[in-house]
Amino acid sequence: MSAPRSVKGMRDLLPPETAVWAAVEATARRVFSLYGFEEIRTPIVEETELFMRSVGESTDIVGKEMYTFEDKGGRSLTLRPESTAPVARAFVEHNLREQGLPLRLFYIGPQFRYERPQRGRYRQFHQIGAEVFGDPGPLSDVELLQMLLRFLDELGFEDLVVRLNTVGDRASRSAYAQSLREFLAPRAAELGEDSRRRLETNPLRILDTKLPRERRVLEDAPRLEEHLSDESREHFEMIVRMLAERGIEHQVDPGLVRGLDYYTRTVFEIASAELGAQDAILGGGRYDGLVADLGGPEVPALGFAIGEDRLIEVLPASNASRFVPAAPATVIAVGGVAPEDALRLAEELRGSGLAAVAELGAGAMKGALKRAGRRGSRYVLLLGDDELSSGAVTVKDFESGRQELMDRERVAGYLEERR
Ligand code: AMP
Repeated sequence: MSAPRSVKGMRDLLPPETAVWAAVEATARRVFSLYGFEEIRTPIVEETELFMRSVGESTDIVGKEMYTFEDKGGRSLTLRPESTAPVARAFVEHNLREQGLPLRLFYIGPQFRYERPQRGRYRQFHQIGAEVFGDPGPLSDVELLQMLLRFLDELGFEDLVVRLNTVGDRASRSAYAQSLREFLAPRAAELGEDSRRRLETNPLRILDTKLPRERRVLEDAPRLEEHLSDESREHFEMIVRMLAERGIEHQVDPGLVRGLDYYTRTVFEIASAELGAQDAILGGGRYDGLVADLGGPEVPALGFAIGEDRLIEVLPASNASRFVPAAPATVIAVGGVAPEDALRLAEELRGSGLAAVAELGAGAMKGALKRAGRRGSRYVLLLGDDELSSGAVTVKDFESGRQELMDRERVAGYLEERR
């Protein structure tokens, strides 16, 4: 019988990479809290209905990518494919408006989409996201981008592209969808199968096609700009102006529409040149109607979701290695000394905040040194009979090759200095 394997598109995250994940998440927590964001944790499973009502039935996510199942009570449940809808649901359910608006929340956790796995695309992936409820902008739109850039800057990113667009309010959007449909219908033969289907269900999605043939058809298509309400136009112009004033480089990309139905007005992505076709590290925007759609009050909102898997794949290498903590020192009992004494010394070091692992089995020195090497220990502390009776320790530094006998009380300080 073959050994069980992880599910297709879902991966184990292993050390030492998990240390990088933890550091990225710690950076997000720290930076987001500078901007007044607090953490929310929602369940991984939601009622299927939630995503149909918010993300939209005509989207790829709801149409073909959800992990939906019936539980033993006959309810239709879905592993969350994204977290904005769950957070908005929680906002309404717990009447979080009472906590005072604007309310700033962030989340970190796994999401599930049945997509074709490839580099940077998984069926279980992870997002770090944030949502602001109760601020109509446009200052909060700009502040959100500023927070994102600060976060990415702290992770060492340099060559990033901010792309943004406005999809207008709902009225402008549906007027535009209609005129796009009228333009494309006589040209349907030039469209691929996906786009022909979208022509009926969600014509705006055709705009972000990557197919050259379809891009050519779209060159003469009507533009969303022509359908924008004055308010939406002003909102967007102010954002663009404020970004310029703050020296934040950006590209206005009229083809950027994003795949979820709930967006209104601002949409944005930040991409890394290194990712190639799947280049977006994160996406976000405004969804002023979502809270009301889910049965709550009229509360404007906006947010973003960072693809943590992709972010880590393109994290500047120097930073990734900085995030992996130094391996623990290895303590080895030599000669007649009991492993218990090695453990005692390791405990002393841990008491001083230093990582240490004791070789607990009695055994040959050679094997113990080999294990220390594999563990990555820079320092090996040898505790022999002489050392034990004189209160000393032999400290071996693998990096310099030097070996020193020192008083046991000095060891913690010595390692501390060289950390
Ligand atoms: P979305 O929720 O579709 O707006 O996506 C936001 C971000 O999540 C994207 O920019 C990607 O970085 C990431 N993402 C979306 N789908 C996947 C996936 N299947 N695998 C890995 N990352 C993903």
